[in-house]
Amino acid sequence: MLFPDKDILELKELIETRENIVLITHLNPDGDAVGSSTALYHYLRSKGSKVTVIYPNEFPDFLEFLTVGVEYTIGYKNLDRAKALLNESDLVVCLDFNRSLRVGKYLEDTLRETKVDKVLIDHHLEPEDNFQLLFSHVPASSTCEIVYEILYHLEEYKPFLTKDIAMAIYTGICTDTGSFSFGCNHKRIYEIVGELVENGADVEYVHQEVFNTYSESRLRLLGFCLCERLLVIHEKKTAYIYLSKADLERFNFQIGDTEGIVNYCLAMKGIEFGALISERLDRVRLSLRSKYDFNVNEFAAKYWSGGGHKNASGGYSFDSLENVIKEFERQVNELDL
Ligand code: 5GP
Ligand code: MN
Repeated sequence: MLFPDKDILELKELIETRENIVLITHLNPDGDAVGSSTALYHYLRSKGSKVTVIYPNEFPDFLEFLTVGVEYTIGYKNLDRAKALLNESDLVVCLDFNRSLRVGKYLEDTLRETKVDKVLIDHHLEPEDNFQLLFSHVPASSTCEIVYEILYHLEEYKPFLTKDIAMAIYTGICTDTGSFSFGCNHKRIYEIVGELVENGADVEYVHQEVFNTYSESRLRLLGFCLCERLLVIHEKKTAYIYLSKADLERFNFQIGDTEGIVNYCLAMKGIEFGALISERLDRVRLSLRSKYDFNVNEFAAKYWSGGGHKNASGGYSFDSLENVIKEFERQVNELDL
């Protein structure tokens, strides 16, 4: 049992008594955000709730298969509607993030200040103290794994999986563990995956949809990063890739196209710290990954207004790409790696 009976009972009562439920994920929704929200969506619908998901901005095309039949709104495109949903629903469930600011600057104040009860389901470190009910479990591989445990507990350990729920939960576990390569050294995750497969999660289909649906320009962008934009600081066991706005435009950048690129830094023998530094519309984003003990969450929080997990974090800066790179190199040189 991951969470106390008392919390599960409270959640059960909320679900049974609140008619309009809104689910919201972090900005730049990933497989775990879309997986956990669509899994919970299908579950709540089956219980008779009216449910809408808010994605603060667009999710990548390769996750679209999960959202078929799901009622959702893209916050940045429908701000008034998203704000009204947050202020006028009967319950808001926050998925896969730990702080209100993670939903992005256009929605964070509304989420923080809404009078509607908020529930958090998440696996990031140090969740904010701004929720009526908190389901936070940092050792979990993913929010999807936590959603599975919560639903299992809610259903008093009886079978509850439908194919839609199983597919969604599997996708989040698979993507947040880098296809079972990190955060998955515990037996329970394989028991859960066994249940998911038995109840309709099509592992091969998910793999094809998520990993083998690159556009030609996305694949060429990956090649360009590895050939032209990879820098290695061998003495500090660090490798990083940088991308300017012009680079992204050259390869017709679409949301999700840089997903996974940072992991290639760690594919190199002897490298323990990897970063992708990319210039976006209003800021420079840093995507940070590590192997073994180096804590990128601390690095992201200390230098780049960010956070995440010990081995996978992100942050940002409003400085120029050139200055961010210089600063990053300086910080790396001071590391005890
Ligand atoms: P990614 O590099 O894939 O964008 O993010 C890796 C992890 O870091 C994710 O778990 C994500 O939630 C977290 N993360 C990414 N960007 C930020 C950020 O700006 N602030 C915080 N607190 N976490 C972030
Ligand atoms: Mn996650």
